Amino acid sequence: MTQFSQHNFKNEKVLIRVDFNVPLDEHYNITDDTRMRAAIPTIKKILDDGGSVILMSHLGRPKGGAEDKYSLKHLVNHLSELINQSTNQPVNLIFANDCIGNEAIEKSKNLKSGEVLLLENLRFYKEEEKGDEAFAKKLSKLGDVYVNDAFGTAHRAHASTAVIAKFFPGDKKMFGLLMEKEITNAEKILHNSEKPFLAIIGGAKVSDKILIIENLLDKANDIIIGGGMAYTFFKAMGGHTGNSLCEDDRLDKAKELLKKAEEKNVCIHLPADSIIADKFDANASTSGALSNDIPDGWMGLDIGEMACETFRKVIHHSKTILWNGPMGVFEMKKFQHGTKAVAKAIAEATADGAFSLVGGGDSVAAVNEFDLADKVSYVSTGGGALLEYFEGKELPGIKAIKN
Ligand code: AMP
Repeated sequence: MTQFSQHNFKNEKVLIRVDFNVPLDEHYNITDDTRMRAAIPTIKKILDDGGSVILMSHLGRPKGGAEDKYSLKHLVNHLSELINQSTNQPVNLIFANDCIGNEAIEKSKNLKSGEVLLLENLRFYKEEEKGDEAFAKKLSKLGDVYVNDAFGTAHRAHASTAVIAKFFPGDKKMFGLLMEKEITNAEKILHNSEKPFLAIIGGAKVSDKILIIENLLDKANDIIIGGGMAYTFFKAMGGHTGNSLCEDDRLDKAKELLKKAEEKNVCIHLPADSIIADKFDANASTSGALSNDIPDGWMGLDIGEMACETFRKVIHHSKTILWNGPMGVFEMKKFQHGTKAVAKAIAEATADGAFSLVGGGDSVAAVNEFDLADKVSYVSTGGGALLEYFEGKELPGIKAIKN
């Protein structure tokens, strides 16, 4: 497989699948440009080599057909600024109003070295998500080299993320720098972790995290389970969880996971106590309770101080830490203490030499909110893709380049 950094892109037209699915406000201002910034090193390397860049991405969830609010034209000005800053010179950025067809073909044909062409939203064609071969082939005609730098969509077998790769020979398709970094860090966790390896899994639902917990039972020494999903485990063990989130149809599964963990010698840590609330509301009345003894009418919305203390100790004695999902309803100030405590402990363990990877939308939002993003070893740009990776699945976007 060709290494991106080893390849010289001089005079090549490089078609890059990026993930520019950024949030926009009602005036089309970009409210978080993390994903755009993440792709800049890949673009810069190609321009520095003397190649030209053709960018393709999706944005939002168009219903089928073009919709102005999902047009990538809203990204042109900011993208131009980011590229110019990175190259220290004005770069010609051209926009094509369609990702296939005559305009895209003409604009890519006329593209000169050092120039960038941004194609319109791929998902204006339903063929993109269907992984349509003819559509993928049309896209492939626009460039000499295909680079996949969209880790966030690597779990999708879409036309531009996977199918397109078959139209390029082995030495003309590769991962971009972001994708390489994501894969290297995720592999370090899954296949090369220094022990003790701790996985911290939180968030709302057990059903979303069953596969990842199952897969990690073969890799981790400790698993912390926090957030709303913890209560399904407490109920499965005969506890009383009041009005806390609970998936009654997953009680057996929760029991099975606890049994498997015991058999495999993996220590599962559940939050012994909780901050409870009388309603799901930022201004709710709150109190404390043991997580297996929550009164009716009350719900656990954060982990309690005993749990924070236990989790801190586990985090501090770990050498590899994976974190996905908050410990409570951290969007509300009253219920963010547990998530903050865990984030801080991970930052401290990292400063002491542990390798830590934070991934999944909400835990990334949490480390950003607590200003700790640069105090962990790696913050992944992948949500669903990262989860599927840790579930042990081979991601179509990765497979397509490797094969
Ligand atoms: P997920 O997308 O599964 O990682 O879940 C993240 C969401 O879980 C966040 O929006 C949290 O507010 C929510 N959450 C975390 N803990 C709880 C809890 N104890 N009760 C209800 N929701 C929770």
